[in-house]
Amino acid sequence: MDLEKTLLRKVGEAIHRFKMIRHGDRVAVALSGGKDSATLLEALLLLAKRAPIDFTVCAFTVEQGKFLRPIAPFGEYLKERGVPWTYFRDAPSMRLLEDQPDHGCDLCSRYRRRAVYEIARDLGANVVAFGHTADDFCEALLRNTMFTGKLSALPPVTLSRDREFRLIRPLVFVTEDITRAYADSLGVPVVPCGCSQKTGTVRRALRDLFGGLEREYPHLKENILSAMGNVDPSRLLDTRFHGAEAEEPQALFPIVTEL
Ligand code: SF4
Repeated sequence: MDLEKTLLRKVGEAIHRFKMIRHGDRVAVALSGGKDSATLLEALLLLAKRAPIDFTVCAFTVEQGKFLRPIAPFGEYLKERGVPWTYFRDAPSMRLLEDQPDHGCDLCSRYRRRAVYEIARDLGANVVAFGHTADDFCEALLRNTMFTGKLSALPPVTLSRDREFRLIRPLVFVTEDITRAYADSLGVPVVPCGCSQKTGTVRRALRDLFGGLEREYPHLKENILSAMGNVDPSRLLDTRFHGAEAEEPQALFPIVTEL
């Protein structure tokens, strides 16, 4: 398998299917220090050279005090590749870490989102690209179904609340075995986040579940991704999406409140 070819095909398919990038866009890639976003950056840089539309790519990292290693080698790597990179040490996130060392993801991601928009605005970007992979989409689907009572995963493309930025996830079809191998081949000096090492979390449990099942069913994630794009609402329980026959008067049945 030609790794780069596979990666570009899958990223290209996502961009095309969900209309993620348009002529004249300036795309800011959110680099987390990990293999996924580094792979995304490289894919977008390659596509910017080859695609029939004009768009530019820049990159940034928000420091929230959770990296387990110094970020400098990562910066050096990007410099060597000639990538314009902004490193932003987010003071409110650092204060949050001092005040509430065990804060949850809600608070942390809210701080990060504010910082991301601030940086993207400074960079003159109208699109922000995130490195969520096919694995993240599959895990999100299971997590939301099992713990929030909602059949949903992640949006491949959406707008920020005030519609200032288009938020895109071009790795939706790319599994992490690809990002791992590709980042390795580039020699990315990955900087792990402390959270990625945590055990006893839902995320870890789902990763282990997938890991176990995939030994026997190697195409599991591909099938789940296909299922997310091939919904049969008549076999689910949300009547908002049921067909006309569900609205026929004779199909209505009084709700039994007393026996
Ligand atoms: S996993 Fe860690 S870095 Fe990510 S949102 Fe949660 S607390 Fe923040």
